[in-house]
Amino acid sequence: YRLRDVDFTETTCGFCAVGCRFQLVSKDDEVLGAVPTDDPADAPVNDFSTCVKGKFGYEFANSDDRLTAPLVRGDDGELHEATWDEALSRVVEGFESIRERSGPDALAAFASSKCTNEEDYLMQKFARAVLGTKNIDNCARLCHSSTVAALKQTLGFGAMSNRINEDIAETDAYLITGSNTTESHPVLSTRIKRNVDDGADLVVFDPRKVEIAEHASQYVRTTPGYDVAWINGLIRYIVANDLHDEAFIAERTRNFEAVREKVEPFTPEEVERLAGVAPEELERAAETIATADSVVFGWAMGMTQHSHGTQNVLALADLALVTGNVGKPGTGVSPFRGHNNVQGGGGDMGTLPNNLPGYRDVTDPEVLDEFEEAWGVRPPDEVGLKVPEVFTEALAGNVEGLYVMGENPALSEPDVSHAEEALEALEFLVVQDIFETETTAYADVVLPAATFSEKAGTFTNTERRVQLVGQATAPPGGARQDWRIIQDLARRMGHGWSYDGPGEVMDEIATVAPIYGGISHERLREEGGLQWPCRDADDPGTPYLYDERFNFDDGKARFVPADTGEPGEVPSEEYPLTLTTGRVLYHWHTGTLTRRVEGLMDHVGEAFVEVNPATAERLGVEDGGRVRVESPRGGIEVRAEVSDRPGDGVVFIPMHFADGAVNRLTGERFDPTSGIPEYKVSSVRVTPV
Ligand code: SF4
Repeated sequence: YRLRDVDFTETTCGFCAVGCRFQLVSKDDEVLGAVPTDDPADAPVNDFSTCVKGKFGYEFANSDDRLTAPLVRGDDGELHEATWDEALSRVVEGFESIRERSGPDALAAFASSKCTNEEDYLMQKFARAVLGTKNIDNCARLCHSSTVAALKQTLGFGAMSNRINEDIAETDAYLITGSNTTESHPVLSTRIKRNVDDGADLVVFDPRKVEIAEHASQYVRTTPGYDVAWINGLIRYIVANDLHDEAFIAERTRNFEAVREKVEPFTPEEVERLAGVAPEELERAAETIATADSVVFGWAMGMTQHSHGTQNVLALADLALVTGNVGKPGTGVSPFRGHNNVQGGGGDMGTLPNNLPGYRDVTDPEVLDEFEEAWGVRPPDEVGLKVPEVFTEALAGNVEGLYVMGENPALSEPDVSHAEEALEALEFLVVQDIFETETTAYADVVLPAATFSEKAGTFTNTERRVQLVGQATAPPGGARQDWRIIQDLARRMGHGWSYDGPGEVMDEIATVAPIYGGISHERLREEGGLQWPCRDADDPGTPYLYDERFNFDDGKARFVPADTGEPGEVPSEEYPLTLTTGRVLYHWHTGTLTRRVEGLMDHVGEAFVEVNPATAERLGVEDGGRVRVESPRGGIEVRAEVSDRPGDGVVFIPMHFADGAVNRLTGERFDPTSGIPEYKVSSVRVTPV
């Protein structure tokens, strides 16, 4: 590249939350490639490696499909190109007229875990301080909200406790569950597999034999929806056999007796009945976990996306505490977050209905005083609506206007037919994105935005590391960076915002979110990524949470007994199979980016359903044949792949495709604590066509 007079820009990957660093190669406002950083110190998580998405996924940025001008829906019902002035005037008019007629809480806003911390901070500030609504949420509601709810109750922070390279990559043993790590977090998976090759134990519990299970010392197939049973069964075995860490429990925790009592009914026989785990498998896994010097507990949406997702994560946290595997080298509770910036933009920045930036309570008058002083406007003091509640209230006529930044709820919501009705019911919908999506089809105004290669700012990865994003090219045509669009709207609505760039926004974040108190763009440029909490300019950041104290006044962790329960839907005569959903290596989320990359579509270009050979034989399904998959909510037609990855009676469909949209099948059942939908268990039938 150097011979061709190109530019190199250090940045952070815009796909998953591993947070790989690399350089984008660009010329004349076109991204030409991605190459390793010059210095591995600039890439603390990935050194010189990236996965296929990091290497080739940038191509979507150059797509001819990019939105380059605002679109406004005309009297003919069609979207037409408009000037920025026309489009923003229409947005202001739409939001103000609803607010005047029905009050600020008839409005809602969705931030995006794809955007930078600075943009998400401004989005929640816009919602609260400019629109005046309490209703701000983001797509983390759909992925790890149950993790956050459970970890805050037990350990104090809703985040990964440890580091990727020094702890996850060097532990003695892993329990990985509900995570298709190789396809969802490829570079992290490589680290784990390398350590397993060097002798670490890997225990995988999952209803689907995902790729990483091929490398496991023990793979245990589970019945979808009954995870609390096997985790409580492990705790019961460990305690009954005196394998628990008594000193750790006595010195660093509270409420152990409640968990000891709770797990008592989870005998090996009961675990087998509920979760399909044989007693000898349970015993073997318990012995591995309890006798290893250090254990990392890793999980993703296979644990969280259940109607009892919070209970699943509580049980995992209890297991980590019982065995003393928190706050020490090589240990940790490790939720593998999905989006590039879901930790920061999806939580830290306060894009949540119950938290202001820095996880500060929206109902605490002293916190509100501080924000009022910083913003000049007092934020609403009530907890707002969660994403699924926004759709319910839209259908009820109580939410009339919605501002969506970088999200695609028309494909990502459970039971999308219902979500489509809700989007249709809105009086006014604004979507800010880089492409037309399934959601822009319902928009009154579409605002063309910039992608990660076209802006500066920061992302926070799954290990709480805040890293710089570098601008390699300008946004195409008339597209604009999200922070500029939000600032322009705020100014048009009478608020004198005048940030000169994302660096100045981060300086404001540092004043209102103490866990980011010592973070600035200057410091990140000089020192590289910093892990929060980083409370002041002298604070080097926090590689381990909890090495000395848990995040409660008395410094002790809380055991919280986890309840088991049936999934919200169980197989019936009419719908006898269990559907579970997930990802494939070559795509990302609703596929709005990766479906535009030819090299990735060449690998996997359409939706499919994996069917176990025994199930396929019973149903007359052939490998490669077309089948209809139906649930009580709708049906899709897809290609069948006969595979022993799912167990007999379980089928799997990836979530990335609009043709064959799996969320036509999933249902609106939610975890009562976090509001996360139960994507991982639905009842379906499969018929050859
Ligand atoms: Fe990007 Fe994740 Fe791949 Fe790293 S592992 S290159 S962060 S998609």
